[in-house]
Amino acid sequence: MSGFYRLSGGRILDPSCGRDEVGDLFVAGGRFVDPVSLPAETSWEWIDASGRIVTPGLIDAHVHLREPGEPQKETIASGTRAAAAGGFTAVVAMPNTRPPADQPNTIGWIRERAREQGVVRVYPTGCLSEGRKGEKLAPLASLRAAGVVALTDDGGCIQDAGLMRRVMEYAAMLDLPILEHCEESSVSAGGVVHEGYWSAVLGLRGWPSLAEELIVSRDILLAELTGARLHCQHLSSAGSVRLVREAKRRGVRVTAEVTPHHLALTDEALADYDTNFKMNPPLGSEADREALREGIVDGTIDFIASDHAPHCSFEKEVEFDRAPFGIVGLETMLAVAAETLVKMKLLDWPGLVARLSTIPARVLGVPGGTLAAGAPADLAVIDPNLQWTVNPQAFLSRSRNTPFAGWEVQGRVMLTMVEGKIVWRL
Ligand SMILES: [Zn+2]
Repeated sequence: MSGFYRLSGGRILDPSCGRDEVGDLFVAGGRFVDPVSLPAETSWEWIDASGRIVTPGLIDAHVHLREPGEPQKETIASGTRAAAAGGFTAVVAMPNTRPPADQPNTIGWIRERAREQGVVRVYPTGCLSEGRKGEKLAPLASLRAAGVVALTDDGGCIQDAGLMRRVMEYAAMLDLPILEHCEESSVSAGGVVHEGYWSAVLGLRGWPSLAEELIVSRDILLAELTGARLHCQHLSSAGSVRLVREAKRRGVRVTAEVTPHHLALTDEALADYDTNFKMNPPLGSEADREALREGIVDGTIDFIASDHAPHCSFEKEVEFDRAPFGIVGLETMLAVAAETLVKMKLLDWPGLVARLSTIPARVLGVPGGTLAAGAPADLAVIDPNLQWTVNPQAFLSRSRNTPFAGWEVQGRVMLTMVEGKIVWRL
């Protein structure tokens, strides 16, 4: 049941209207309300938010919930609980499940499961190609009718430029964004770490930035031709940032995201072959990290997304070459982003919250990202000063594969509310 809440004395940040003030925020009937619109005798449940930041619920545009098919790694139930603990009120679920989400009935199954077992909103995406094989179009119109918010073959990338052009034409017609995992696979083939100094020192096969940049440039040209809304996922290279910046200047409909780990780490972290630093795209050089930080600050990169990719310990505890790509991120994203951007004075809190909530909502065309009266009461209460140590054993996610274990971080989500219902409280 959603009650009547008065969040009192917090710093209220609403990037959707530039609001930044200390005050009280009211929730009734699952929505934000202006208390003058309610009877004076309304009895409120007080939540003390003093010293804390009250923000629109965070929105993660890139999450692998692993259902259907791999519940040992994550489920919709566990993944959405991890999301709530991270301050997220909505997540966009990637379609590389088993089976892949390339048919309307799979989308229907995910939506129903999310309604029954999810504690935050789950927005499904559908595949671009059948089985994510990059050979034949998936039934894009039926996927849209089934309720997907975007189309993506994430984890893979359509290599055939002719097919990609057709995909973009359909996506433009259906007005659905394409979330592209940019990887030219003949160039990245066999690569497990960024190609550069560290791949040479460690004797590991390199994944050149060129693999990403080739697809970013190809897709920018195709988006320009077709008018499709192109969104480049998890950018990792300085060259990609430059390409997106130039395209935006030309007026191409392109947006981009970056992960907290690409903002926080470089490939130097691989020095002791820890597979918790193995992800796709791989961690880049210091110059790449600099460019990504510049890109997120100047708006070339629109928002931050976790690429939460759970894997079982036994899968990660193998030789580096054989370990799967990916790390979990929902429960560390806010703190790592705050450490990397706010503490280093690259962004202030309103700037960070915009890139974790308001902007992803706008790019994806989903509700949220606002505290305006009348909007669904999706919010997070953050203690910006709370120091804590990342302990993977305490994660609500079913998986523990994080490169941030043991990190001393500052900034923690104290409470998360979805449609006026408290779904997380520390
Ligand atoms: Zn990806």
